[in-house]
Amino acid sequence: MPELPEVEHVRRRLARWMKGARIVRVDVLDTRMVRPTKPAVFVDALTGRTVTSIERRGKWLRLRLDDDHRVFAHLGMTGWFEHERAADRSNPHAAVGHHLRFERVRFVVTKRAKRDAIVYVDPRRWGRLIFSRDDIASWTDLGPDPLADGIDLDALAARLARRKRASIKEVLMDQTVIAGIGNIQAAESLWKAGIDPRSPASRIGRADLVKLAAALRWTIERTLKDLAGHAKSPFRVYGRNRLPCSRCGATLERFELGGRTTTYCPACQRPL
Ligand SMILES: [Zn+2]
Repeated sequence: MPELPEVEHVRRRLARWMKGARIVRVDVLDTRMVRPTKPAVFVDALTGRTVTSIERRGKWLRLRLDDDHRVFAHLGMTGWFEHERAADRSNPHAAVGHHLRFERVRFVVTKRAKRDAIVYVDPRRWGRLIFSRDDIASWTDLGPDPLADGIDLDALAARLARRKRASIKEVLMDQTVIAGIGNIQAAESLWKAGIDPRSPASRIGRADLVKLAAALRWTIERTLKDLAGHAKSPFRVYGRNRLPCSRCGATLERFELGGRTTTYCPACQRPL
């Protein structure tokens, strides 16, 4: 499932292709993707508009149009955007007839006299493209984004203190506490900070909070670099059960927490 770094990677690509571009045609190939808006209304609202900005908060993207209306995009489990030049047929996502495999919505845009297609692809169809005249609750209810807003230690401490019984890992994944952290970024940052993921969130002290904030930035930056093709594998614990800890050499272990599998180092990640 895409988390903050994956969605930020998508945002940067989309900004390159679509910022300042005029939407000249929209094809909704799967009507479920644009719910609750009717496809004809979606097409009508976007056609002829220019995209003025593409922002991200947590796992949500917001495309602003020149009439101040917006499209909110969530990639769900398997969504992403592809860029297709008119004559580009070397795309690895096996074109089926005219369309890409699992293509759901196609935007034809013009930018600097060039005409391109931006295609929303989503095999499992859990993503959404929501047209709205205003911000939606899924966007406004999000907590601060570590990359876009930075991490305010006092605000974070207050939010963590409020969660008496919940584990630190579960609270990190609560989108109203910090936006964009999922299973992978939570496991990685808690490893970096040396904190046992099961520790009660409310028990964190100032020194560990400082470490955790730095760890969050570290893992996000690492994953972003990996996505841009500059690192081998960004992960130190995720998917590494039974392998040695890269910090202390102990064997990594796995347990279930809130229905999610978590890998951690029993030697160098301590309870709070
Ligand atoms: Zn270790």
